[in-house]
Amino acid sequence: MRDSRQDQVRPLVYETPLAMHAWSRELHCSGRTLALVPTMGALHEGHRSLLRVARESADAVIVSIFVNPAQFGPGEDHERYPRSLDADLAICVQEGVEAIYAPSPEAVYAADHSTWVVEEALAQPMEGECRPGHFRGVLTVVLKLFHAMEPDVAVFGQKDAQQALLIKRMVRDLDVPIEIRVAPTIREQDGLALSSRNRFVNAEERRQAAALYGALKACCEQWEAGEQDAKKIRAAGLKVLAPCSALEVQYLEIVDLETLTLPLRHGHPVIMSAAVLAGGTRLIDNIVYPPGALAGATQGATSS
Ligand code: AMP
Repeated sequence: MRDSRQDQVRPLVYETPLAMHAWSRELHCSGRTLALVPTMGALHEGHRSLLRVARESADAVIVSIFVNPAQFGPGEDHERYPRSLDADLAICVQEGVEAIYAPSPEAVYAADHSTWVVEEALAQPMEGECRPGHFRGVLTVVLKLFHAMEPDVAVFGQKDAQQALLIKRMVRDLDVPIEIRVAPTIREQDGLALSSRNRFVNAEERRQAAALYGALKACCEQWEAGEQDAKKIRAAGLKVLAPCSALEVQYLEIVDLETLTLPLRHGHPVIMSAAVLAGGTRLIDNIVYPPGALAGATQGATSS
């Protein structure tokens, strides 16, 4: 059977903030609303699910595809990060995306760029500790995307939960008039969260990688059963990872979802979050409890 979505028009691809901005202004003038899905490309089913949430959230969907050098540290995988613009465009066509913003690093950052968005609380633990400067790069580029594209709604994945929390914090603290939605993590059959980086693991690392989600589930079971001692909860997760010689645990935490620190407060949402190295590939994942606690919309400043 023919897929009617194949008949859709090829999306427009913009490469500079000014060109992107002009398009978005015109769309708004015609009275239509806009939902943005920011990505680094190498699109997979996880990204597709965000595109579908975006489609339900506004009249038009736009995607940014930009491997942001500012969020990679020295020695990280910026150079080898997968780039597949043609395949990404095909997915965007299938999902009814109207426009794509795919700038070069030079179009985004002036050679003497020196202004950064820095969040000083939620950015400290977990990913912030392992990847100094990472969230500064993320928040700065996301704010620049917001300025170039002026979406009404932006959709992020729970897969990067700390990132999503930081973006919600940024739009609240800096009065950015954009609604932030967070969509659930899409997983392989064995529980491994889909990621553009999964292609880099070898067969044995891939087999063991499923234990990352298994460990988080073990933590979550402890919490659900009433355990409140974070050390004991962590221990339950680490036990699952212990036999996995191909995985090196960078962190495994259970913290309060609002503060990303201890103490755990009974009746308040928590997040179990972990990062492992599988060979040279960094994999991250998390579970939020109760499950919907990070989902849904957070409204930044509005004119009302
Ligand atoms: P990335 O291209 O990896 O920077 O991701 C772009 C967006 O897709 C981010 O908001 C991610 O959280 C989200 N994302 C990545 N992997 C998944 C997944 N497996 N399920 C849902 N969302 C995801």
